[in-house]
Amino acid sequence: MKKDYYEILGVSKNATAAEIKKAYRKKALEYHPDKNPGDKEAEEKFKEAAQAYEVLGDEQKRAQYDQYGHAAFEGGGGGFSSMEDIFRNFGDIFGGHFSGFGGFGGFGGGNSRSYRIKGGDLRIRVKLTLADIVSGTEKKVKVLRKVKAEGATYKTCSTCHGNGSIVREVNTMLGRMQSSTPCHTCGGSGEVIDKKPEGADSQGLKTIEETVSIKIPAGVVEGMQMKVPNKGNEAPGNNSIPGDLLVLIEEVEHETLKREGENLHLDLYISMPEAILGTSKDIETANGKVRIKLEEGIQSGKILRLKGKGLPSLNGYGTGDLLVHVNVWTPKTLTKEQKNFFQKMLDDDNFTPQPDKSEKSFFEKVKDMFS
Ligand SMILES: [Zn+2]
Repeated sequence: MKKDYYEILGVSKNATAAEIKKAYRKKALEYHPDKNPGDKEAEEKFKEAAQAYEVLGDEQKRAQYDQYGHAAFEGGGGGFSSMEDIFRNFGDIFGGHFSGFGGFGGFGGGNSRSYRIKGGDLRIRVKLTLADIVSGTEKKVKVLRKVKAEGATYKTCSTCHGNGSIVREVNTMLGRMQSSTPCHTCGGSGEVIDKKPEGADSQGLKTIEETVSIKIPAGVVEGMQMKVPNKGNEAPGNNSIPGDLLVLIEEVEHETLKREGENLHLDLYISMPEAILGTSKDIETANGKVRIKLEEGIQSGKILRLKGKGLPSLNGYGTGDLLVHVNVWTPKTLTKEQKNFFQKMLDDDNFTPQPDKSEKSFFEKVKDMFS
């Protein structure tokens, strides 16, 4: 059972962003490796606090965490794999009190500053139906990703001695100066392949097919991109970090329902007798059918608003409506008998249009819809 992030930082669930930052800073200073050299427990606490802050310090991640708990970040693990990560991400929070990261659990020893290679991001598209979007869903997708092959080992680059860069003395007009260039042997990571098992490529990587589970919250929109951290390609080296899996949301168009933000629209066709006599209809919503009643004498063009039958908003505030547009279907061909009947109705007062003052005009209805 993972510890609650709020508990780790010792703040309440309603804490403001400033309070969270302050709380993290306090913990980070308390457990900082410079203050607790060699203390593994302090290091764990330091990492734990950073992980909590990575989520709670970010408005969007915090909202996801509040809604789904740790599950929001499953599949990616989240968090930091090393102390170096923490300093790189949150270094500013220490306000220059400390030396930052110097030789702590790193590689190459000393003041090596090689940078960590990040694997490439992978991109996939996920098609969602309105039913998926209305309630949120979990999709399992197969991705082909590069991972470090089992048995692949890496060693310190002998060209740059793990520094990732080569410093040269160069003669310039201003005298001798030092110039630093990324190491051409290791590409700046400070590491090179040592042993590579059979089936691995020259960098010790192999491509595998992996099933990744993606939690999709309710209310997502076409074109939105979600990130599953660390599920992209891995990069070679002991200190590399994996790329991310970027998930592009696509909506499958519904046969009858049209989406407009959080609202849905439906064109409902009824016959003239149904409009005159009144009727009940089963209509489709994003998640199943509902029965609605149409009063006798209902006008074509009337819009019925079914509250809360639209889509939930992504941030969890409220749900849209389903707007049913009533269309009275006029037959195009009639039998002789039917024609005679309507001929007789031509001069009938009941068939003479007498728009009610309370009936809103089309333009007023449209105005209402958007207000
Ligand atoms: Zn090198």
